[in-house]
Amino acid sequence: METNMLIGGTFEAGTEIEESVFNPRTGEVILKMPEADPGQIDRAVKAARAAFPAWSRTTPGERSAKLLAIADAVESKLEELAKLEALNCGKPINEVRNEEIPAVADCFRFFAGAVRNMHGPLAGNYLAGHTSMIRRDPIGVVASIAPWNYPMMMMAWKLAPALAGGNTVVMKPSEQTPLTALAFARIMADILPKGVINVIVGQGGTVGNALINHPQVDMISITGDVATGKKVLMAASKSVKRTHLELGGKAPVIVLDDADLGRVVAGLKAFSFYNAGQDCTAACRVYAGAGIYDRLVAELTDAAGSIVFANADDTLNEIPPLISPRQRDRVDSFVQRAAEQKHIEITTGGTPHDGNGFYYKPTVVAGARQGDEIVQREVFGPVVSITRFADDDPVVGWANDSQYGLASSVWTQDIGKAMEISAGLQYGCTWINTHFMLTTEMPHGGLKQSGYGKDMSMYALEDYTAVRHVMIAH
Ligand code: NAD
Repeated sequence: METNMLIGGTFEAGTEIEESVFNPRTGEVILKMPEADPGQIDRAVKAARAAFPAWSRTTPGERSAKLLAIADAVESKLEELAKLEALNCGKPINEVRNEEIPAVADCFRFFAGAVRNMHGPLAGNYLAGHTSMIRRDPIGVVASIAPWNYPMMMMAWKLAPALAGGNTVVMKPSEQTPLTALAFARIMADILPKGVINVIVGQGGTVGNALINHPQVDMISITGDVATGKKVLMAASKSVKRTHLELGGKAPVIVLDDADLGRVVAGLKAFSFYNAGQDCTAACRVYAGAGIYDRLVAELTDAAGSIVFANADDTLNEIPPLISPRQRDRVDSFVQRAAEQKHIEITTGGTPHDGNGFYYKPTVVAGARQGDEIVQREVFGPVVSITRFADDDPVVGWANDSQYGLASSVWTQDIGKAMEISAGLQYGCTWINTHFMLTTEMPHGGLKQSGYGKDMSMYALEDYTAVRHVMIAH
């Protein structure tokens, strides 16, 4: 198992405090990993800086070839990477093997093609006797900081467009999930010139903080909590660094009376509880029309109660545990505070799992009201609230009444109503009769305090490159 960091083409261990890395399925410590010291952080940034002039001047075709080689290498090591990600996150092995690692390879292949196909306005003579053209050039050294819920996928979403665009990167995975990031660093070190990618490990308050405040970092890309995003903005303001923020979410799900109930229940079973709800797009805040509410609560309760987890045979598991005891206890405290409200009924789940690991039972919170904490705050666990709405209730207003603006969905058989509601929702994505489906060609990113960075799609390549105007006098 790789435990060394990648700094300027060489692998070395951190020398500062040791972080315990857990197996969330058993609660056991896998290993203790020392974090980077200030000198190592500085050398990583300087290595990225030194690699920038040559890398930024490679052609799109040359960078594309490197990204394709990374995608091939990820596929050739699929089994090893899947086992490592499953171990460190507790994810069901089949989910990582069949969905997450293939998505990582696809992301690199998409940006390998995208960078050769960037386009913009026509060059032309907009002033007499002068020709103007637009260039899109790399920004410089990018500090990329990832969360623990999809360690490798978030790394791919950040690295592929940044590298395709001609930037060099210092990456910091979450201190809780460094294992695949370091294995991935080993793969990339064999393909990319030294210093183009550097991977360092450690806590946010120490290593992350030093990285985002480093004067030679030109851009900060972070996926994480809103509070962390605000710290990034403060750090960025000191030297006016460019920022790319992907923060939390609290996705509303509007279910109209005419929706196909079977489809809604199957969808919510999958999209509310996937990754145990540790997903910023999780379908966690359901608004159900009065005509469908009772049946939806009953059927979703049964469906959530049937989810398989904590099985010794991991190939049978449908959801993972939570990442840490802290996260499990946080989720439980939200549920217990909700349960104290007289109008709320916990129809299934509502407690941690009794056995090993950090599992929490899939939970349905029925009868929730708009002002309730469980409706307003991000829980980041396997917990769904259901709120009833009548015809005259302002359900789109309720859906928009959130500090977050990442993802939403509408379920109805009336396409006109679906389009009308979609137009009124203030979310980066609205799905109709589905939720959570992603494709690399389309952007993922938010509004409001969910941040404004776009991952995947051509828009990510735009985020990681700067628009420049070049004018020639004839
Ligand atoms: P977090 O903000 O605590 O940590 C995210 C990363 O930021 C970690 O690597 C952490 O070490 C680092 N960090 C923390 N404090 C820092 C600081 N002061 N300076 C620099 N770096 C710092 O979030 P988390 O608990 O790892 O992840 C869960 C959160 O991420 C949730 O709120 C979730 O909604 C959000 N998330 C958002 C998206 C999205 O696409 N919008 C995707 C996944 C997760």
